[in-house]
Amino acid sequence: MTCHICGGVLQARHTTLPFKVGDDRIVIIKGLPVLQCGNCSEYVIEDAVMERVETILNGVDTTVELETLSYVA
Ligand SMILES: [Zn+2]
Repeated sequence: MTCHICGGVLQARHTTLPFKVGDDRIVIIKGLPVLQCGNCSEYVIEDAVMERVETILNGVDTTVELETLSYVA
């Protein structure tokens, strides 16, 4: 799999990303497996991972403005 921006090689790695879940709510997920370009830092989240992220986001306490979670709970 190659980067859709620059054509560089995507490498599997773990990172921390913020997800906006409302007008003023952000959930930060740590240890997220992504494919990141070694050339331009563009990243891709695989469908299976994104589905798990959505499950995590759906289970978040809606009264909290900022929450940090681990991908592997
Ligand atoms: Zn790239």
